[in-house]
Amino acid sequence: MSDNLTIEPDVVLIGAGVMSATVGVFLKELEPSLTMKMFETLENCGLESSEAWNNAGTGHAANCEMNYTPERSDGSVDISKALEVNVEFDLSRQFWSYLVKKGAIADPRSFIHPVPHMSFVHGAGNVSFLRKRFKAMTAHHCYYGMEYSEDRKKIAEWVPLVMEGRTTDEPVAATRIVTGTDVDYGAVTRHLVRHLVGLPGCKVHYKNRVTHLTREENGRWRVEVVDLDSGEKRSVRAKFVFIGAGGGALPLLQKSGVPEGRGYGGFPVSGIWLRCDDPEISKRHHAKVYGKAAVGSPPMSVPHLDARVIDGKRSLLFGPYAGFSSKFLKHGSLLDLFESVRPANIKPLLSVARDNFGLTEYLIEQLLQSESHRLAALDEYFPNARPEDWKLQVAGQRVQIIKPDVKHGGLLEFGTELVGAADHSLVALLGASPGASTAAFIAISVLEKCFAGELTESAWLPKLKQIIPSYGISLIDDAEFCRRVRSETAKVLGVENIELPAVTAGLAPVA
Ligand SMILES: Cc1cc2nc3c(=O)[nH]c(=O)nc-3n(C[C@H](O)[C@H](O)[C@H](O)COP(=O)(O)OP(=O)(O)OC[C@H]3O[C@@H](n4cnc5c(N)ncnc54)[C@H](O)[C@@H]3O)c2cc1C
Repeated sequence: MSDNLTIEPDVVLIGAGVMSATVGVFLKELEPSLTMKMFETLENCGLESSEAWNNAGTGHAANCEMNYTPERSDGSVDISKALEVNVEFDLSRQFWSYLVKKGAIADPRSFIHPVPHMSFVHGAGNVSFLRKRFKAMTAHHCYYGMEYSEDRKKIAEWVPLVMEGRTTDEPVAATRIVTGTDVDYGAVTRHLVRHLVGLPGCKVHYKNRVTHLTREENGRWRVEVVDLDSGEKRSVRAKFVFIGAGGGALPLLQKSGVPEGRGYGGFPVSGIWLRCDDPEISKRHHAKVYGKAAVGSPPMSVPHLDARVIDGKRSLLFGPYAGFSSKFLKHGSLLDLFESVRPANIKPLLSVARDNFGLTEYLIEQLLQSESHRLAALDEYFPNARPEDWKLQVAGQRVQIIKPDVKHGGLLEFGTELVGAADHSLVALLGASPGASTAAFIAISVLEKCFAGELTESAWLPKLKQIIPSYGISLIDDAEFCRRVRSETAKVLGVENIELPAVTAGLAPVA
């Protein structure tokens, strides 16, 4: 097996972030005989977007992000997107619970903490929206237990720092759900990679950059790699390639030459946080408080004041302040954007530039922000904040998808998309939102897209249902199953649960 692993692994995972690590663990759990190699440019896993301070660490369950619940023209609130994201996070909870129960992750406290999720607004129009949103959401079992208040005293009990020093008497409102979480996705990645490389037939190669991908006549992919220390070049031949290279995925998809990737481009958006590590301040804020994005700004610019727990230490994070950098990765090159331009994606790129002038304006305005502008934004969520308690923290890069579109020439997308070869022997994950929270959903989508033939009762399905007990069941429709999944994963992961009233008594546990 060792020779085969060296030159002909079954699977190559490009990038050692949370996405490749999750796909790798799923595949290996389902088919223990698979051989796998993971190549990573950096010196360790989880150091790019998945690293704790490079993202906000929100366990995105669409509890508090108001951009997932748009107002319809008739004034009602559409919660369908929020519900989708909400139950996608349940898949990650089940996957992590499986690994904790199996002993592959010793202590869930090393990566996940209960932190209430809140939405906070001010101004009569916003208050009216939040009230309607709360009503629509709590009519569904997925949001059972969410609280709402317009009472300044109540909100001050929930988040004192947000209310202290608030001098205006304009109306305010907040929702809170205590089942929210803060997740260190860097720690998740380290757990997953450690587990993976501890299994027979799996190896990770750090400081190894994948430079090219070529389809061979026998159907395998030749993956060319350079060792960044020695400069040595070599290649391996794999049956299946997952391009989980984050911002580096688009250039590799382009190099693979698969026709399905033609016309795709990327638009990088960088991020900056304000960070406060003073324990006296951070101990007084125990929530992730999301506001409303400014009109015309992109969804990933929603301001939020977050409690973070990283390596056992509590901190506060505020932001993000968006910006523009032509790099596709934080550790990437300023040439990334320009090198991604191809004859096939010029039209989509130019169309998006023409149709999204508001976004360009927004990013330029963010780039020009001085420290006092940044502090003024913080002031809205923490009126008594003192500049000396905060420092800047550079976040990760997000590469938004630009895809060809017959009508518009090109479209800018803020979600994620799996793009790959028609025979499903290679697939790349493009885009960045909702993000790491949905890693298990992404991995399952890879299985369904590329390994559909194995997802049968006589092959992988029984094991997949052991890992994800809700597989094949809609938690949006099945309130009882949702109740059981949440109650059991909350116990295993040590997060808060609000027990939904039982719908059916006497059913067996889900796992
Ligand atoms: C500002 C910001 C805030 C965010 N907030 C949240 C949040 O609150 N909640 C959430 O769930 N998600 C959030 N996200 C998104 C989340 O961080 C990403 O979706 C997730 O980390 C992506 O994981 P990944 O494994 O695809 O990419 P990465 O973690 O970036 O990993 C990709 C890896 O591939 C490597 N690589 C690239 N090219 C090559 C190559 N050619 N050869 C070898 N290796 C290569 C890179 O070095 C990197 O280590 C946020 C992102 C940003 C930027």
